[in-house]
Amino acid sequence: MHIGFLGLGNMGGPMAHNLLKAGHQLYVFDVSATAVAGLTAAGAQEATSAGAIAKAGVEVIITMLPAATHVREVYLGDDGLLANVQPGVLLIDSSTIDPMSAREVAAAAAKNGNPMIDAPVSGGTVGAAAGTLTFMVGGSEADFQKAQPILAAMGKNIIHCGDCGNGQVAKVANNMLLGISMIGAAEAMSLGVALGMDAKVLAGVINSSSGRCWSSEIYNPFPGVVENSPASRGYSGGFGTDLMLKDLGLASEAAKQVRQPVILGALAQQLYQAFSMQGNGMLDFSAIIKLYRQEN
Ligand code: NAD
Repeated sequence: MHIGFLGLGNMGGPMAHNLLKAGHQLYVFDVSATAVAGLTAAGAQEATSAGAIAKAGVEVIITMLPAATHVREVYLGDDGLLANVQPGVLLIDSSTIDPMSAREVAAAAAKNGNPMIDAPVSGGTVGAAAGTLTFMVGGSEADFQKAQPILAAMGKNIIHCGDCGNGQVAKVANNMLLGISMIGAAEAMSLGVALGMDAKVLAGVINSSSGRCWSSEIYNPFPGVVENSPASRGYSGGFGTDLMLKDLGLASEAAKQVRQPVILGALAQQLYQAFSMQGNGMLDFSAIIKLYRQEN
């Protein structure tokens, strides 16, 4: 297929590479020339703006942008996608943004005659490179079916979550739970070790008992417990504290709009915020365990 791709950063770059590998013809745009060069070297064609992508005769356009402000600008701006795209072209936004913005942009697209789905991802940069992302999709059944084979070139699990915006709902709910559970795992591991237990033995007990969760088993925050985890390499790589903070902010904001209490989510947000303010925003979010342990 002829596909337009905007936003070729840490996630979008490898995702676009996987579309090329699957045999699709790609037209790409990013405000960073370096990001574009990586894709043109692999065979993609460069476009000079969002509007130019929309006019390139593509059948589908995918965006992978930092936040809602960028998504609004790219879709709704004067030289944006909606001002230039032909009706009928399928629009897929994979950025993580708040559900309300996703619904607003999808409504504007529908007025323009363009089907649109929100399809945020989970799986990080490793999943993006390996083509094993999970896509959480919001949109009509027909649009989901149309997008499915395209998303399958970039991901392994593609889940239809309901109408427009529900992909973002699933994403913020999941990541809020992840943020909370990581703090729980950090607190429990720190307590056990402070009381004299070996970290690996403690993790082994938790992971065969009722406290087990992804944060204790796959991504344990205590150094040395899980080989190759961020905790075992100085909290480098992985999912940055500031990215977790962004997602917890989206959860709090979305919760406020429906007057839904997110007590632990808000507390988790404050803890990651304090940790980020101390200069740790680039560390993997499992480094939150540092709040509980004295360095040496
Ligand atoms: P990134 O900052 O690495 O990439 C974003 C890209 O968008 C950059 O190359 C930037 O130049 C480009 N961009 C910004 N404004 C633009 C515009 N107006 N037109 C065209 N391009 C523009 O971010 P990322 O890590 O790739 O994340 C992208 C999205 O995926 C975010 O919403 C993030 O929350 C989400 N996400 C990230 C991860 C992760 O581990 N990095 C995991 C899951 C979801």
